[in-house]
Parts: sequence; structure tokens; C-alpha cells
Amino acid sequence: MGFNIAIDGPAGAGKSTIAKLAAKELGFIYIDTGAMYRTIALYLIREHVDCEDEQALSDALRSIEVEISYTDGVQQLILNGENVTDLIRTEEVSQMASISSAKPQVRQKLLQLQRTAAEKYDVIMDGRDIGTVILPDAQLKIYLTASIEERARRRYMEMQEKGIECDLHEIEADIAERDERDMNREVSPLKQAEDAVLIDSSHMTITDVCEKICELARNAGA
Ligand code: C5P
Repeated sequence: MGFNIAIDGPAGAGKSTIAKLAAKELGFIYIDTGAMYRTIALYLIREHVDCEDEQALSDALRSIEVEISYTDGVQQLILNGENVTDLIRTEEVSQMASISSAKPQVRQKLLQLQRTAAEKYDVIMDGRDIGTVILPDAQLKIYLTASIEERARRRYMEMQEKGIECDLHEIEADIAERDERDMNREVSPLKQAEDAVLIDSSHMTITDVCEKICELARNAGA
């Protein structure tokens, strides 16, 4: 088994930005599991699959092959042979990923892909249930959070920078809705693992959080 770092936390807490940086610093591979759920969501949207129809969902999942690869160290998501990395960041996909990821069949489909990656390499994996379900033996577990206002503000700034029109209150409402679903679903709800270190990044810079995680990782033997 490689050295495994699990980072869980709610939407917009900065997990992926920080995990990417820390992975570079430590020479680890970064695995974004949210992107895998988003890839399945994209397929479900394209094929108009009703997630509440168990049979339709199972049939769809049988037709989906999700693979990850790396180009210049950046994770690429391959859906049935098509590179969909740039297509999975829309609000529509975010909402569908949040809804479909609550379904046990969907989680089951991705479990092995996630575990296999962590067996082979030194990884930083981020998601919602990495420390609690996917990698319960990870050498370091982090629960990264921030206030909802701060998370919404960061997403707003990010979208402004990209020139995308958006409304701060709408973003805040979307995040609150996703939090509610992720934390209250029956299977693999988002929660802090008992042995996870809690980091609240509301008043910390990206560099501060990254340094803290790298220090914790080195202390744990990375
Ligand atoms: O992290 P990201 O926002 O890309 O994740 C998209 C959605 O996928 C989340 O809202 C969450 O519902 C789901 N997800 C999950 N378990 C993970 C990663 C993401 O349920 N390990």
C-alpha cells in the first residue's frame, strides 16, 4: 500500500486546490473523486436517466466505463473512451452529481476504482467519504471545512474571474442544498472520521492550509 492521505469536507472548502498543491509538494498523486461522480452524472444527464428509477439507473451504470489517466500530472476523466474533463464543471453536473452520488449503486461502482488507485501509489484523495469508507486505514485524514458564507464567496470570485455571470445568494443556496444532501444521505454521508484532523480554512490562506497538511503528512511518515 502507498502512503494515503484522505481529505474530506463540504463543497467549496478548497479541497481540490489544496490537495493538488500538497500533492505536488509531497510528490504524491492527486485523486479527485468528485470528478468521478461528476463523470457519471454527465452520462445520466446526456441519456436522460431518471435516478429514482432503480432499474434504469442500474442499466445505465452497466453501460458506463469510467477511467482516470494523467496528462502532465493533471487528472483526466475518461467516460466510455471520451475525455470529459472539461465538461463536468457545470452547475447542472454539480447538482446531478450530488443527487446521483446518494444512490448506493453509484457509490459501489466507484469504490474499487478509488481503492485500487490508492493501493498502488502514494496518493492524496479528496471527496466526502474517503476517510470514513474508502480508505479507513489512510495514514493521514483531514476534514477540511469553512463557513458557508466563505465557501460561497470563494466560488463567486472564481466564477467572476472566469467571466461567468452569477449571483452570490444563488451560489450560497446551491452550496447549502448540496451540504444538506451530502450530510444527510443514508449511504456514506459526509462526516468527519473520528481520527481525522479538523481544519477550518475560513480564515486561512491556501498556502497556510497546504503547509499545515504537508507538515502533518511528514510527521505521519510521508
Ligand atoms: O467534490 P465535488 O464538488 O466535485 O463533488 C461533486 C459531488 O459528488 C458532491 O456534491 C458529492 O455529492 C459527490 N461526491 C461524493 N463522494 C465523494 C466525492 C463527491 O458523494 N467522494
